[in-house]
Amino acid sequence: MIIGIDLGTTNSLAACFRNGKAELIPNRLNQKLTPSVVAVDEQGQILIGETAREYGYLHPQAMARLFKRTMGTDRIYHLNDTELSSEELSALILRSLKEDAETYLGEKVEEAVISVPAYFNDHQRKATKQAGEMAGLKVNRIINEPTASALAYGVGEMGDSECCMVLDLGGGTFDVTILEYYHNIMEVYAVAGDNQLGGEDFTMTLMEMFLQRNGLDESDLSLRELGDLYKAAEQCKCSFSSQSSAFISVMLQGRPISEEFTLDEFAENCIPLMDRLRKPIEKSLRDAKITLFDLSRIILVGGATRLPTIRSYVQEMTGIFPDYYVDPDTSVAQGAAIAAAMKERNEDIEEIILTDVCPFTLGTEVISDSGRFDEELRYLPIIERNTVIPVSRTERVYTAHDNQKEVTVRILQGESRLPRANLLIGWLNLEVPVGPKGQEAIDITYTYDVNSLLEVRAKVVSTGLEKSVVIQNDENKLSDEEVKERLEKLSYLRQNPREEEANMYAIFRANRLYESAEGSDRQRIEKEMADFERVMDQGTRLQVEKQRQQLMQVLDELENQGNVLLS
Ligand code: AMP
Repeated sequence: MIIGIDLGTTNSLAACFRNGKAELIPNRLNQKLTPSVVAVDEQGQILIGETAREYGYLHPQAMARLFKRTMGTDRIYHLNDTELSSEELSALILRSLKEDAETYLGEKVEEAVISVPAYFNDHQRKATKQAGEMAGLKVNRIINEPTASALAYGVGEMGDSECCMVLDLGGGTFDVTILEYYHNIMEVYAVAGDNQLGGEDFTMTLMEMFLQRNGLDESDLSLRELGDLYKAAEQCKCSFSSQSSAFISVMLQGRPISEEFTLDEFAENCIPLMDRLRKPIEKSLRDAKITLFDLSRIILVGGATRLPTIRSYVQEMTGIFPDYYVDPDTSVAQGAAIAAAMKERNEDIEEIILTDVCPFTLGTEVISDSGRFDEELRYLPIIERNTVIPVSRTERVYTAHDNQKEVTVRILQGESRLPRANLLIGWLNLEVPVGPKGQEAIDITYTYDVNSLLEVRAKVVSTGLEKSVVIQNDENKLSDEEVKERLEKLSYLRQNPREEEANMYAIFRANRLYESAEGSDRQRIEKEMADFERVMDQGTRLQVEKQRQQLMQVLDELENQGNVLLS
């Protein structure tokens, strides 16, 4: 079976398509989300997900997270004595999800559709594909996250044409995508966003409101107090999705402080953040050359869109009541599973052809003759960013100087008006008949295909002389041999057996809470841990499970009481 995987910045999950619908695959801890976190313990054993995160609280230097942000770069993470790249870390997450899927489905899983953000460039997409291969998965398709969400929302299911906007507000980023479904083809028309805006900013706003009300400044608090306050503000913010007022209760400078905030006052303080949502929305409409009237629906994804303030802002701004009925944590994985079913030609689902866009502008350098002395070098875009691929575009240029013998076509990638600020990715030279400037015309054709191959052809119109060059945008592509080598490296990394995962997780969590608890709470954790360890040594599987549940219950209780540091 081909599974769908949402390889997220903070969490990942897998889904499959069975009995006519997408189904989430629980992980080994029976949770739907696996944190995208990897740790290596002192024995060199690899820990993944929640277990790695728990271990990382007390051993931060042994843990890596947020590595999706460095996909396709040379960054190396040092976890104890193990060095891993972002692709390798991602491969470990994918391997774990693959194993969970195999256990859940009771069959081998060797193929997957994996999602990436729509703005991911070629390097990042290839790195994701390689990570899949290193995890022993044939990556059938890389799907854009907003496209996956649109599939989960059933865009195209009825066969009607529609144009929709997907707004994805996660923890730290905001992405806007315009998609069109037409004649069985789903196309991404435009992507825009703000990678400095996310749910975290809304939490910070609430935190500042709290500090202001208490006449405090961030610098008055210790790091631990700031951490506690952030957690309490985060909880308060999340409460706003079901209630119109909520408390922030926290111990600061030795005294308990509790403040009530209403959703209305919070919304008012969030106006500057809301204004920042507007810009990328407008930009995406401009790039797609459409207006709000052309949109048939707006889909909200990403955890932060649970905030009622955001929902009502989007509605007020656009006049469209947004869709948010699919769980924002899982819609991407569900959509990836639907895309996987399309690949498998599952008879319960009709195939929709998904197209991609060129994520950056490709162009060349020209001299613009302004009639003044100084000739100005100018960037001439040929394939604009966000153009649906495959695409072929031609521009005609002319000789710039009298008696010019040759023209050089410099092939550039980037968005700057200044050629030198863009990336030079290749060039070609061709001879032209000598004559006055502007006499000879040259047609430059750029063709960019779905495999990210750029072919540039230049033709002298008068003589028919033509030259071409093919640029493959994949300097960091691994050869089959290298993939094999890296696969082997990963296979040496030992991962704890699936069945032990829940026990390790419980111990790491208890260790963390023990460190931050005091007095009788500490004694309680100590006793529960001692009991658990004894049963682990001598008890049956069932006894271990029972004792673990008891330990987890105590930990839940203490954590919910807020007596111990949450993270
Ligand atoms: P994501 O990256 O899509 O998982 O989104 C994470 C962001 O969603 C974080 O900033 C969370 O605080 C935010 N979030 C999660 N649940 C809620 C909720 N119920 N209300 C408001 N924000 C939420």
